[in-house]
Amino acid sequence: DEFVREEFSKGALRSKTVEDVLTPLDQCFMLNASSVLDFRSMSMIMQSGYTRIPIYEEERTNLVDMLYLKDLALVDPDDCVPLSTISKFYNHPLHFVFNDTKLDAVLEEFKRGKSHLAIVQKVNNEGEGDPFYEAMGLVTLEDVIEEIIRSEILDE
Ligand code: ADP
Repeated sequence: DEFVREEFSKGALRSKTVEDVLTPLDQCFMLNASSVLDFRSMSMIMQSGYTRIPIYEEERTNLVDMLYLKDLALVDPDDCVPLSTISKFYNHPLHFVFNDTKLDAVLEEFKRGKSHLAIVQKVNNEGEGDPFYEAMGLVTLEDVIEEIIRSEILDE
């Protein structure tokens, strides 16, 4: 029984993809690269409750940087520092995965790497122009663990 249960949850991790569990881009809390860190924006960031916040340039599908909540520890809202000054200073790497990446593969990547968050991208080949990569959303370790727990509960 223990074995069956283990195989079942492995099955879910093997068959499901990051696209099945991601947080869609339109539901993501993100910041425009041209923002200024003043009282208003810093309060919004605090209230969002997220520890990692993607930064986009021009369009929300164009993610260029990442802000960690702890980057704000030494920022004084009265100084109205540009967000880009802070994000360039910390320069956190962005991790991308394709929408069809299986959950077991992304779990291995999360275990290996330092970051437990990845940006999910797909190839957009609609329209006339050349195909291009387009961000679809975010996936974190939490989303993968939630799927493991869900499949174990379903199994009982
Ligand atoms: P946090 O550490 O910020 O609480 P978690 O990694 O625990 O984030 O993820 C919790 C949920 O929030 C997941 O479903 C994840 O996809 C989502 N999430 C993480 N960061 C953001 C963000 N900036 N905007 C919207 N959703 C997010």
